[in-house]
Amino acid sequence: LNRRLAGMGTTVFAEMSALATATGSINLGQGFPDTDGPEEVREAAVRALREGRGNQYPPGPGVPELRTAIAEHQQRFHGLAYDPDSEVLVTAGATEAIAATLLALLEPGDEVIAFEPFYDSYAACIAMAGATRVPLTLRAPSFRPDLDELRSLITPRTRLLLINTPHNPTGTVLTSEELAAIAELAVEHDLLVATDEVYEHLVFGAAHHPIAALPGMRGRTVSISSAGKTFSFTGWKVGWVTASPDLVAAVRTAKQYLTYVSAGPFQYAVAEALRLPDTYFDTLRADLLRKRDLLVDGLTAAGFRAFTPEGTYFVTTDITPLGEKDGIEFCRALPGRCGVVAIPNAVFYDDVEAGRSLVRFTFCKKDEVLQEAVARLRRL
Ligand code: PMP
Ligand code: GLN
Repeated sequence: LNRRLAGMGTTVFAEMSALATATGSINLGQGFPDTDGPEEVREAAVRALREGRGNQYPPGPGVPELRTAIAEHQQRFHGLAYDPDSEVLVTAGATEAIAATLLALLEPGDEVIAFEPFYDSYAACIAMAGATRVPLTLRAPSFRPDLDELRSLITPRTRLLLINTPHNPTGTVLTSEELAAIAELAVEHDLLVATDEVYEHLVFGAAHHPIAALPGMRGRTVSISSAGKTFSFTGWKVGWVTASPDLVAAVRTAKQYLTYVSAGPFQYAVAEALRLPDTYFDTLRADLLRKRDLLVDGLTAAGFRAFTPEGTYFVTTDITPLGEKDGIEFCRALPGRCGVVAIPNAVFYDDVEAGRSLVRFTFCKKDEVLQEAVARLRRL
């Protein structure tokens, strides 16, 4: 393993999901639903397979049907107009979109400012690009960005701001004021922005605002999303980028040599998913809101300090009230102690102290699974 990837062995998600399987525990670690997405979307994938659409290499930028549906979705939900031919790129999940964006846009030695705790692939992809990550730490209990601190982190080497809203793992949803301040800094310092919005539809009360819609941002922002979370098909790995033609062309250049193209039949199915009526998105949110409250209340009753998330399907907790200090030790022991798996937030921080006592649980599981997990945690 080269120096850039030293210390980045196995992702925490793989480690903890393997632990869940080995111990037969309830897995509230890795974020994947235990109920698949809509039947009609699955049927659309089967139809595409049967009818021979996408069984051979699809076009590099993605099948036209999906690119059009992505552009329509950006218009319908965010009022953003993108040309499906030159401003949309289909990727192998948001994960590849993040990798291709960073590999395409960064020079070795560039600095990337990213909120920490950060989703684990950010650190790895910034490192693979030979760039340096500069964390802006979100701290308990509010987990909101300190925008003066953000300003102070900008140097002549800063090239890109990498933001994530709704934010995994804290559930913070950036407000329009916070986004406006970030956008102003990007314009003032002529920075690129990559924004990971995979949880764009998973917001509870708070509204999701895409930074690309703000003044001066359309041409400097790479917006990233994916079908995994919105449609409960994390295994399909269909993601996308929307940006100006120049930025999309750059990201496409990198994508060509990572995967060349993404799997075909699923693209046709996701095109149909993106056109589902508003009731689909409203029901998804309402179900998750109920699950969020179930888990937050249960964790609180079990003695955790739970920070109620405004978005995503994760709850971050502090284990200090349980007399515990170290989230990594706690998560390694938890399956043996009570048959539940969670993720230690410390692995998403450079500032390990800021995340030491924080532990993340997901609530994208059946109500009865959440209830059983809570019952087990209450016996801790
Ligand atoms: N970004 C964030 C913040 C995530 O939580 C995830 C996990 N779904 C991804 C990106 C990766 O998305 P995908 O599964 O579409 O690659
Ligand atoms: N995004 C999911 C999470 O944060 C899982 C992603 C993964 O396993 N790489 O739990």
